[in-house]
Amino acid sequence: MTTTVFDVINPATEEIIQTVPLAGLAEVDAAIARAAAAYESWRAIAPADRSLLLRRFAAAVDADLENLAQLEVRNAGHTIVNARWEAGNVRDVLNYYSAAPERHFGKQIPVAGGVNVTFHEPLGVVGVIVPWNFPMPIAGWGFAPALAAGNTVVLKPAEVTPLTALRLGELALEAGIPDGVFQVIPGKGSIVGQRFVTHPAVRKVVFTGSTGVGKQIMAGCAEQVKRVTLELGGKSANIVFDDADLELAAAAAPGGAFDNAGQDCCARSRILVQRSAYDRFLELLEPAVLGLGVGDPADSTTAMGPLISAQQLKTVSSFVPDGAPVAFRGKAPEGPGFWFPPTVLTPDLDAPSFREEIFGPVVAVVPFDDEADAIRIANDTHYGLSGSIWTSKVDRALRVARAVESGNLSVNSHSSVRYSTPFGGFKQSGLGRELGPDALDAFTETKNVFISTNPA
Ligand code: NAD
Repeated sequence: MTTTVFDVINPATEEIIQTVPLAGLAEVDAAIARAAAAYESWRAIAPADRSLLLRRFAAAVDADLENLAQLEVRNAGHTIVNARWEAGNVRDVLNYYSAAPERHFGKQIPVAGGVNVTFHEPLGVVGVIVPWNFPMPIAGWGFAPALAAGNTVVLKPAEVTPLTALRLGELALEAGIPDGVFQVIPGKGSIVGQRFVTHPAVRKVVFTGSTGVGKQIMAGCAEQVKRVTLELGGKSANIVFDDADLELAAAAAPGGAFDNAGQDCCARSRILVQRSAYDRFLELLEPAVLGLGVGDPADSTTAMGPLISAQQLKTVSSFVPDGAPVAFRGKAPEGPGFWFPPTVLTPDLDAPSFREEIFGPVVAVVPFDDEADAIRIANDTHYGLSGSIWTSKVDRALRVARAVESGNLSVNSHSSVRYSTPFGGFKQSGLGRELGPDALDAFTETKNVFISTNPA
């Protein structure tokens, strides 16, 4: 049998760093069979022992943190500071959910004639499909609660970023997670990912990626009424009122839009500024953007690295054609690597750069008149993942936060994802929630059992 291989490229240098074999259908089916075989014993492990194994897995990730981070710098062009945080996030998510097996309580519900209890039963094999933009954290948000709930996991990394996921698979085995319980299968979405959707032994698909592919996955899962969690695209608004601390809001805006070179589903890629503060805000934003250090991601002073691929560079560039309304733009290295400078546009509200997810370091700034106008513009999108509100008025912060149709909002900050709080999208940004105290509910079925105290 010929094995297909994929050349993994360092996006900062365009050098091939490793060649990874891609799984074909037979290999995926074999992995799913191993996961199904491992399920009965994994779910039967005593809760405290499953907890212990997850904590050992977390410790193995911690011991390998620098190696994982360096791998991500080379494979995804993430800055070393971000990459260390991302590896640490996998450790923290594993530790957080390691406490769950012993605390995933059912209910005892008062009924006549007996005792009624509910149980959270694991689903079986869970397929996790990961995009290339945050290979480590997004993998962990799927596999950690899935494993804690007693499921086994097959995980497909994105074609271009398999290296850290493969290492996590090795670390799981080294930590004592039994064979077949957590497997990483690099391969194409159309083969491996699609097989998770069609294979009857895979009982749930956790998909993070583009809204277009997410819709296909959801439609495919409908065939077997397969459980699905979708984390999809975004076009989030950063709303700046004229009563905000404008210096702080402008200083923070590049981080909200350009972190990970803007390849972030939560990127605040639309900045809405109250008209009375609009000129001042742009004046303050310009030095913050021009001062952004773009360059070698391995350098700990770098704020922004390259885009992931030549294809992504082409896509992002298409949103900034000649004659685009560029207010100002920062610098990026020349020569090899998929570089794009941080760019600030002032487009019309119907421009593609204001409406579509660019997934690159391009941010659009537009004015608004009042609170109602800000909410109308913020909600005029089929996305609803994230967003920020900058204001000094607490009543306004709460009113606007409640009115924006989005799953994750932050006031006077751009924070989006904490492992202890729920994360997910409204509208076409997704379905279901990850992380937070209730994540195991998405990886279990509720079973109701009535025990008669008056057997006939
Ligand atoms: P993508 O949809 O192209 O691919 C995502 C994953 O799905 C990859 O592993 C890919 O191989 C796989 N895939 C592709 N086609 C498939 C198919 N037909 N069946 C099964 N699997 C398939 O997305 P991408 O370009 O890798 O990632 C960028 C997108 O992900 C952006 O839209 C971004 O907003 C979104 N994203 C969302 C979140 C979130 O939490 N909401 C987080 C990160 C990224």
